[in-house]
Amino acid sequence: MDKNLLKNYARLLVKIGINIQPNQTLVISSPVDCADFARLITETAYEEGAREVVLNWNDDIVSKLRYLYAPDEVFDQFPEWRKQFYLSYAEQGAAFLSISASDPELMKDVDPGRIARAKKTASIELKEHSDNLMNNRNVWCVASVPTPSWAAKVFPGIPQDQAVEKLWNAILTSVRADDQDPVEAWKIHKTSLKQKLDKLNDMQLQWIHIRNKLGTDLKIELPEDHIWLGGSDISEDGIEFIANMPTEEIFTSPARNGVNGRVVSSMPLNYNGSLIEDFSFTFKDGEIVDFSAKKGYDSLKHLIETDEGSRFLGEVALVPYDSPVSNLNILFYNTLFDENASCHLAIGKAYPVSLRGGESMTREELLDAGINDSLVHVDFMFGTPDLEIDGLTKDGQRAAIFRKGNFAL
Ligand code: ZN
Ligand code: ZN
Repeated sequence: MDKNLLKNYARLLVKIGINIQPNQTLVISSPVDCADFARLITETAYEEGAREVVLNWNDDIVSKLRYLYAPDEVFDQFPEWRKQFYLSYAEQGAAFLSISASDPELMKDVDPGRIARAKKTASIELKEHSDNLMNNRNVWCVASVPTPSWAAKVFPGIPQDQAVEKLWNAILTSVRADDQDPVEAWKIHKTSLKQKLDKLNDMQLQWIHIRNKLGTDLKIELPEDHIWLGGSDISEDGIEFIANMPTEEIFTSPARNGVNGRVVSSMPLNYNGSLIEDFSFTFKDGEIVDFSAKKGYDSLKHLIETDEGSRFLGEVALVPYDSPVSNLNILFYNTLFDENASCHLAIGKAYPVSLRGGESMTREELLDAGINDSLVHVDFMFGTPDLEIDGLTKDGQRAAIFRKGNFAL
């Protein structure tokens, strides 16, 4: 790959994504397969004034071997030092950058029950850390880099090095790193997202009603004082950052008990290294009362049965069908990209910041206000080119929000 382009991308992540501050520590979580790029980010972060860059390596193959061979009780344990690793750096005000890149079918031979058990243990132990991030107490950013096994799934039937190069190009285009002036391109992008947010926030919609030919017919009530968010976030210390790169979505929280009807998935979901395909959910008063999946039913069942909150929604996000990631016409099998190509919902925890004053409320206060809590937050996609969304404004006016898959605002 072109070294300048890669450097542009690293600089975007460090300066726009996490917006590193002088003397700030940066914690990078990265697969070992992406070591070259993790080193480039490390160098860039030091050039931009980071105090120390700390690497938290992970490896798909080692994780899979653990799931295949380790005794069951291993999946009920989580080392205290690993929890303290995150909490102690968070306490120092570190920024957290994660590279999301994995083989979408890595775990297809692994018992999904073992994975669900291990993920639940980790989620419980890391809840304080993930709550910190979801409340914007620390700056964080999720981005991606190709790995050979992932690229082969996205672009099957061509030599692996060509598949990796194609995936690199798709990623760099979707994050605007190949733009003449990527930093300026992000400024323009943030402004255009903000215009949409402002309109939706002014409407203070009571509910939205989503329909398409796939079979989605879902009415979602929105909590009083909800806030539509998108583009950049502001940390507790007032630092602007971008939590996902790419990001094309505008999102808020549904009212926990106010979701009724059926939603049908429009893309496969890569969950814990297994693919869940052709699935649907039926909701009554916010709760999932029925679900189906042609592939990956057991993984989906484990997800929904994680805890009380994993039967309710935590996010509704709008992404126009005509948008940069969607127009690449690539199924990435990676939620970071697929969720930015399609309208989506998330099962599980809602972002407290999507309610006015939510970041300083207790869990109980948030639940009372309709903001869901759970150990999980998993996005799935339902956007299609024929998607229609209507809304009802605070003063009782009907409004067209989406027509033919795109904003009608
Ligand atoms: Zn989202
Ligand atoms: Zn989400």
